[in-house]
Amino acid sequence: MSESPWQPTACILCSQNCGLGVQLAEGHITRVRGDQAHPASAGYTCEKAQRLDHYQHARGRLTSPLRRRADGSFEEIDWETAIREVAAALAAVRDRWGGDTIFSYGGGGQGNHLGGTYGRATRGALGSVYSSNALAQEKTGEFWVDGQLFGRPSCHTTPDFEHAEVAIFVGKNPWQSHGFPRARAALRAIASDPARTLVVIDPRRTETADLADLHLQVRPGTDAWCLAALLAALIQGGHTRSDFLAARTTGFDQLVAAMATIEVDDYAARAGLTGVAIRGLAARIGGAASVAILEDLGIQQAPHSTLSSYLEKLVYLVTGNFGRRGTMNLHTQLGQLIGRDRDRTSPVGGHRIIGGLMPCNVIADEILADHPKRFRAMIVESGNPAHSLADSARMRQALAALEVLVVIDVAMTETARLAHYVLPASSQFEKWEATFFNLEFPTNVFHLRAPLFAPLPGTLPEPEIHRRLVRALGVLPDDVMTALRDAAALIPTHGRGPYAAAFFRHVAGRKELMLLAPVILYETLGPTLPDGAAAAAVLWGLCQQFALAHGDSVKRAGIEGDGPALGDRLFDAILAGRSGVVFSVDDDAATWRRLEHADRRIHLAVPELLAELAGLAGEDPAVRDPAFPFVLAAGERRTSTANTIFRDPRWRKKDAGGALRVAPADAARLGLTDGGRARVTTRAGSAVATVEVTDTLQPGHVTLPNGLGLDYPDDDGTMRVHGVAPNELTSSDHRDWLAGTPWHKHVPARVEPA
Ligand code: SF4
Repeated sequence: MSESPWQPTACILCSQNCGLGVQLAEGHITRVRGDQAHPASAGYTCEKAQRLDHYQHARGRLTSPLRRRADGSFEEIDWETAIREVAAALAAVRDRWGGDTIFSYGGGGQGNHLGGTYGRATRGALGSVYSSNALAQEKTGEFWVDGQLFGRPSCHTTPDFEHAEVAIFVGKNPWQSHGFPRARAALRAIASDPARTLVVIDPRRTETADLADLHLQVRPGTDAWCLAALLAALIQGGHTRSDFLAARTTGFDQLVAAMATIEVDDYAARAGLTGVAIRGLAARIGGAASVAILEDLGIQQAPHSTLSSYLEKLVYLVTGNFGRRGTMNLHTQLGQLIGRDRDRTSPVGGHRIIGGLMPCNVIADEILADHPKRFRAMIVESGNPAHSLADSARMRQALAALEVLVVIDVAMTETARLAHYVLPASSQFEKWEATFFNLEFPTNVFHLRAPLFAPLPGTLPEPEIHRRLVRALGVLPDDVMTALRDAAALIPTHGRGPYAAAFFRHVAGRKELMLLAPVILYETLGPTLPDGAAAAAVLWGLCQQFALAHGDSVKRAGIEGDGPALGDRLFDAILAGRSGVVFSVDDDAATWRRLEHADRRIHLAVPELLAELAGLAGEDPAVRDPAFPFVLAAGERRTSTANTIFRDPRWRKKDAGGALRVAPADAARLGLTDGGRARVTTRAGSAVATVEVTDTLQPGHVTLPNGLGLDYPDDDGTMRVHGVAPNELTSSDHRDWLAGTPWHKHVPARVEPA
């Protein structure tokens, strides 16, 4: 088997999208190494990237559009028929019930956001205005807090762990879930430096906690008490930065008043900690030159999740660890993952929509309600809500109740099985792709990836699927398309100047056409791009917008020009930079310019959350339902778990079935043994799993991994489910009152021998 030369691409298994070099042979990815030329990851990878061929070469790839028959089986149809019928079915829903009854979910995973930008054109053509994705399972509470503190939910913060004296992780195990560039190398560097301190706040003794100088092992579900105690200790102990607070913030007096009533020792005890430990951490934070903090699902999917996000942010804000090196900053984004809109509400239940995202836990309700504006149709792209959203049984019921369900994916997912039409997409390595997880400060990187393989026959890249759907919907104005095609024809002789002028004249500023802009660019500018990179056309528009808003940051990245020429050169750099490109370098003051409150200050007091904070005093987090005495973390990130694009269970080298982890004391009490079987039961369902006894957990806490419970064909083609699907055990009403984010890390459960 002869292997190809090393080719640049990226890992698609987590939001870091590390740059990779790969070798190929006979349609397989045969060798993988870190790409030294990638500006962010610089040769770094974790072991998971080595297994990527299990995605690219998985069994069960879809190779033809499918249409569901009346008996529930599927028949293959050609693309022309599929596009015509899908467009007609969605248009019929739009015309009868309104475009706002067509909901869309997904539009990108950990490494395939480019197709999602084209999905916006299809939604625009249909008048569809409600959507969601996995971010609304995790981050929308944090986004809402960002909106209150900094002005908009899109004011997203990023930690500078490279330079922080104190690095704190709250409900986050970056050894496994990463979350910032070169995570394991950065953790080792902090842990081995006696002048720096690594702090972990987590109920589990994670791999990161094992490295830490200080591990506050909170009781599961008590993060809010722990963080409130820490904030109170900072304020009561005088560890705040008065010059920063006076110059940059409002509302500190209200925080002082709220914190005056909090007994540090009492709140620490409720979290299973001591006041001494909390005050010690407060003193370390208060005395540090720089502190950076990262929160993650451990608090974002647990009780009081939005409040916990608020308290975590106040820890760095009251101590002035914001807007400078080694602390927290507001970064640039080439493509906007988080909507800039302030809150809207859902059409049926009036639930808060944050950053443009419908809470995932109410989607089923918004479909199943007896309401004139319930969702009647759904487009699911690179998503699997029947598996990945809470209460899978109810989600399946909701999906089955839709008049039209269209799924765009590479495999016959649990959601695709319920669809009326399934449109097969090319894999992430068979098309031009990119991710918009560019979340770094001051240097930010974008990586456009060239395809490694030709599309599997019968599949299409998402940009082409959406182009055909938009064409079939008949919304592209001929005169505009002709003018842009004529301007594009001049590119070989006149450059993109005339094209830019035509685009700004005919499209920019016309809302109805801006919604269609990705497809307009793909059809007109796309054919002029080198190496068949038509799908990159949408990036030209994003580069123009970005250069207009952040021209100085682009120039600091070494890209020259003014006006549209700057956006054009940025686009050229991205097109040419096969290992990724630095597109933005910020100066020290950039964070302050990005505050979106009119007074350019941070608004520390958030009345809704201060009211929730006051309520903690009367709540005992130790009280549990006797019928469900355990806390189940449904979806732990482990060495052997990634995202669900890995359907092939053989990618896992160990823990193939996804063990239920149990503390030794619980195992002894219940008669469970390592390798034995246990039944875990929740309000929503019951499942049996292999037991792993581990002293990394506290008594009363059990965990199941994320990413399991998917079916996959055996060697003889028989479909078999591997491991427990976490959402067979979760309930959709078990969620944060404000953001609607699910509490998957804190599911009341019962465990018994099976
Ligand atoms: S899983 Fe994440 S950290 Fe590991 S190689 Fe892939 S992108 Fe990088």
